[in-house]
Amino acid sequence: MSLVDGFGRTVRYVRLSVTDRCDFRCVYCMAEEMTFLPRAQVLTLEEMATLSRAFVELGVEKIRLTGGEPLVRRGIEGLVAEIGGLDGLRDFAMTTNGSGLAKHARTLREGGLKRLNISLDTLDPDRFRELTRTGSLDKVIDGIRAARDAGFERIKLNAVVLKGRNDDEVLDLVEFAREEKVDISFIEEMPLGQSIGHDRAETFCSSDEVRATIETRHALVPTTETTLGPSRYFRMADSDSRIGFISPHSHNFCAACNRVRVTAEGRLLLCLGNEHSVDLRAVMRRHPGDLERLKAAIVGAMQKKPERHHFTTDGDVQVVRFMNMTGG
Ligand code: SAM
Ligand code: SF4
Repeated sequence: MSLVDGFGRTVRYVRLSVTDRCDFRCVYCMAEEMTFLPRAQVLTLEEMATLSRAFVELGVEKIRLTGGEPLVRRGIEGLVAEIGGLDGLRDFAMTTNGSGLAKHARTLREGGLKRLNISLDTLDPDRFRELTRTGSLDKVIDGIRAARDAGFERIKLNAVVLKGRNDDEVLDLVEFAREEKVDISFIEEMPLGQSIGHDRAETFCSSDEVRATIETRHALVPTTETTLGPSRYFRMADSDSRIGFISPHSHNFCAACNRVRVTAEGRLLLCLGNEHSVDLRAVMRRHPGDLERLKAAIVGAMQKKPERHHFTTDGDVQVVRFMNMTGG
């Protein structure tokens, strides 16, 4: 059994949201007041470990834990160690806001987590507070350094670029990545979730604009390097840091899509920009311990994977789910 969808694409990459909760309230991701899922609706850590095993047995080579903020989930280290021990998994990563890394980086590394993406949109402490509503920049910078000290290699920063809010910091963020010897990807904002407090049509900043800004200082050479994800990577001649662009609007990546997502409730989402999904929690709770039945449900779900997303940049909400529900 392997995971091939109706368009001949093979799924090798799963993004698993371990919680919808978060200690930040980033303006592009969440509303200020959020209602989170009742605990009973969220998959248990055991269910998440079982799901991960099922996916790896079906040929999945890469798992990324995300959320919400994965490091606010109690017991996350145990889940990491469990998944880190699965035979056949080649890449095991986490996307985090970094605020918990000073505390957790070493245990995560020892548990077998291989790579970290850390979100960082600004280097200005006041702006950081405005964009995250609750976060502290110092803590995240300490977290980045703790992760490096714990032995994580090729740490990648993720920056969502918003016009008028942080687009003037693109070059500073590149310099920071070079100094800290980490990679950085710039992300186009996606239309997920409503009432976020700004008009996305006004803040949209395309990857081409960001790239042009960087090229005023550094020549960017395209590379064919891939981490099985949607980033397109470039290198600079005088640094080991790579620059990536995640451009769901301007460079549609659906044709090469190799990934699916699982929400914290166990809903297998076949596409970031569509609602096609299968309830894997129901399968696991109806048939506890039946791995073969779970695998069959996952294989069957592949036929529901849509060909592409239909995001536009006109500020309309195309998907009502917030990113923290989706597993960014
Ligand atoms: N809390 C973790 C973090 O912030 O890295 C993991 C989850 S977060 C939803 C994953 C990534 O999605 C972050 O890099 C965040 O900046 C990005 N993100 C959230 N909402 C977005 C949106 N509407 N458009 C584009 N990226 C978004
Ligand atoms: Fe939390 Fe990450 Fe969303 Fe920010 S982007 S609110 S850190 S889940």
